[in-house]
Parts: sequence; C-alpha cells; structure tokens
Amino acid sequence: MSLTLWNPESRSAPPRRSGMDDPGSEGRFGRFGGRFVPESLVPACEELERGFREAWADPAFRAALNQTLALYAGRPTPVTPAARLSAELGVTLLLKREDLAHTGSHKINNVIGQALLARRMGKTHLLAETGAGQHGVATATAGALLGLDVTVFMGERDMERQQLNVFRMELLGARVVGVSSGSRTLKDACNEALRNWVGAVDDAHYCIGSVLGPHPYPWMVREFQRVIGEEARGQCADLLTHGVPDVVVACVGGGSNAAGVFAGFVDTSARLVGVEPEGGAAVTFGQPGVLHGFQSYVLQDESGQILEATSISAGLDYPGVGPEHAHLADTGRASYVTMSDDEAVAAVSRLARTEGILPALESAHAVAWVLRAAGTADLPSGSTVLVNLSGRGDKDADQLARLM
Ligand SMILES: *Cc1c(COP(=O)(O)O)cnc(C)c1O
Repeated sequence: MSLTLWNPESRSAPPRRSGMDDPGSEGRFGRFGGRFVPESLVPACEELERGFREAWADPAFRAALNQTLALYAGRPTPVTPAARLSAELGVTLLLKREDLAHTGSHKINNVIGQALLARRMGKTHLLAETGAGQHGVATATAGALLGLDVTVFMGERDMERQQLNVFRMELLGARVVGVSSGSRTLKDACNEALRNWVGAVDDAHYCIGSVLGPHPYPWMVREFQRVIGEEARGQCADLLTHGVPDVVVACVGGGSNAAGVFAGFVDTSARLVGVEPEGGAAVTFGQPGVLHGFQSYVLQDESGQILEATSISAGLDYPGVGPEHAHLADTGRASYVTMSDDEAVAAVSRLARTEGILPALESAHAVAWVLRAAGTADLPSGSTVLVNLSGRGDKDADQLARLM
C-alpha cells in the first residue's frame, strides 16, 4: 500500500474553493436545476435561499454547525485504510467512514444543517418526506436535538414495509402521517409534504433529504454535505504519498453523499465516479425532464411518464438524480456507472469478511465498483481509491438474511 505514516500533527488545510460553486439565483447547474414549483411556493423558496445565504456567510452559524457536528454527530469521521482488501485487490483502498456518524449515515450532516437554519429563521416545525424511513429518522433526530416539532409524511405502503423506522421516528417524538394517495410510496409523500409546506410556511421548514428539489435545495444540501469531502481531502493528504487518491467513488441515489465527497476533490486530478443502482440509474438511462421541482435526468418512458426505480437498496430507489450530477456527467468531470443488486450484496459480505465493516447496501454499490474495476484499465494495480462509505449495514441485516 502506498501509505505514508499518519502524522497527527499535520495541519493540511481543507480546500477553500472546489469548483462545485454557487449556482446563482437561478439555481442552475448547466442546463439542469432551477425552480419548477407552483407560484404559491416561490416566496418560501426565496425566503429559504436568502436565509441560507446569510447563514452560510455568518461565521457564528458555521461555528454552531461545526460544534454540533463535532460534539453530537461524531465528526470528523475517520478515513480507514482497508488493508486486507487492498492486498487482495492490488490497489490502495481508503474508506471515508460516514457509517460512524450518529444515526449511522451521512444523512445527519444535512438534517443538522437544515434544522439549525430553520431555527435561525424562526421556524418551529420541520416537515419531511421519507421512503425507506432513513431520512425521516434523521429529521426526527435533529428535531429532538433542537426542540423542533417534526412531521414526517410517508406512503402507507412504505409504512407497512418499514414498521421499525416508523416506530423509531415516533420514539424520537415525531408525528408520522400516512399518505394514502397514488401508489402510496415516496413520490406521493413528496407531494403531500410540499402541499403541507404551502399551508404552513410561516412556521415550518421543509427538510429535503438529498441534493434534490427546487433551488436552493440541491446547492444547500451539497454545501451541508461538503464537510465529508473537505475532511477526506485533509485525511488523504496525511495518508497518501501523492496526497490525493487517483479515484473517488460514491453511490448515487439522489446524490448527496456523492456530491459531498466530490466537492472536496473536484479541483484535483482525482477521477470522480458515481455508482448508480442498475434499477434506478437516472444518469445512465434517464432523459432530461422535470421532477419534484427541478430539471435533471429522469427515468421516464417515451411519453414522459416517470418510471419507478427498483433497487435492492431502498435509499437508492429514486427515479431522478440531483441536477449537479447531471451537469457533472454532461461536462465529463464525473463519470457514472451502474452496479447490479447481486454485485452490491456480494460487496457487503466481502467488505464484512475482509475488514470487519458491514456497509449499508447503498454504500456497497460503491465498494462493488472497486471490486469490479481493480486490476482493469478503470483502476489499474497500484492505484489509490477513496470510497465514501455512506452508511452502516445494520439496517439491512434482515433483508440480507432473507436473501442469502
Ligand atoms: C439515503 C442513503 C443514500 C442515498 O442518498 P444520497 O443522497 O444519494 O447520498 C446512500 N447511502 C445511505 C447509507 C443512505 O442512507
């Protein structure tokens, strides 16, 4: 492995500018992004954009956020060299351990950011939608921490499938509202959450869980997740002979963990690889379209009907992708590949057995790419690769037990 000794005295400064910058008042990433919402929601989006701009420029807000991430959420998360798997594959594999953050994934970075912002803007209530329940649990956690009421909208079909997460949210003091319209899943919950936001904008903040939705959400959520990439940049500088890995890999559902880690490396020579699930690969198989208030690549049929995504990992089950990823794909700065359900499952057990780390099925898609690419032209022997391990796999143990 091409590692230098870890130097705890090193003060390698994180990058100040990354190239993934402010998309301006239109919220445009090339031809993607924007704000496609009913007239009644425009003022709420504008108020949020103003609130975020002011907060993000305010050192006191940044300090409060950083302190909460450190003292509550367990940041910085470590970068772990995967020594045994590296030896087997002939590459140097580093893992950014978002699985070690409070609640077990990167989602906490974003919800703490948005909850602090909501409180600063005088809101008393958080609204959220959730499919698998992970974002709902994270929002309920942040609400409990900061004393904000939380209402989570969830399709009734998802509630049946994810009873444990419904119970978790309720334990954390959130109200879970079942949505009985449409297919009774995530997209119906999104619509219901938006509808409720229109009626309650004075008191409520709508907390979106990924780099999705109308401007300013894709930008704001990426900025709240940027901490992943900035930490990892400094940690790689300490660990690697060349300071920067050859490749940075992350799984892509909506794209928030990928955007966060990419932001720390977009101004370097590192190749950026986003891994989509085969059944929900909007960048790879989608067409330009509008979904949930923004323009991006969207899985749709010939008449523009949105197709349902189907992945083994509930967290990657989304028919669109964050607009900035669509733009990064267009410009060629990042490339996007797909992994099958089987490859993801195989990657879970390989990482578990070689490193003693049980990754989330979502994160396993990124690991699976390394397993497939190592020793090929995509990732030649001797390469260094950083995988953003977005979450831990405990939540998937039941599902894996049924599969294996
Ligand atoms: C929700 C989730 C994802 C997918 O969301 P992104 O916005 O694409 O990051 C990935 N990994 C884990 C562990 C998740 O919980």
